[in-house]
Amino acid sequence: MSYDRSRLPDPAAFYVEHRGLKLLPGKLWRSGGPCEFHGGGRDCMRVNVRTGAFKCMNCEIGGGDVVAYLMAVECIGFIEAAKQLGAWTDDGKPAPRNPMPFSARDALAVCDFEITFAAIAAGNMAHGIPLTDADRARLLLCANRLCRVHEWIAR
Ligand SMILES: [Zn+2]
Repeated sequence: MSYDRSRLPDPAAFYVEHRGLKLLPGKLWRSGGPCEFHGGGRDCMRVNVRTGAFKCMNCEIGGGDVVAYLMAVECIGFIEAAKQLGAWTDDGKPAPRNPMPFSARDALAVCDFEITFAAIAAGNMAHGIPLTDADRARLLLCANRLCRVHEWIAR
């Protein structure tokens, strides 16, 4: 099995047809409507129509291509994202087993920070302090980071 980047969909087509963004006229970087990650923000998502890179101007989530986008939004691994995008070919060889992209110590540090953040947000809500849009966006990023650590550890 191997990854064939040339088989990735056209970034503009991916974002419009598969993710429902409405790309505004522009050049390389174009606004694309609300952000799927924090669930709001009019035209806050920016996508690069050549590389597929993305960046939310509100919650600041971002990545380098459509694979990174799909991994983040669906909380799936690289191979699964590449398969869904048609860029993973079966050549009869076993899939490569990549090492963890971070150490166990780093994974624990991320979990510690994100769990503490979620606990503080929950505590605030329990005391009647509503979440701001930025808080909600950060909680989604928190969940995504924890999901990512879980995914790598569970492999
Ligand atoms: Zn966002």
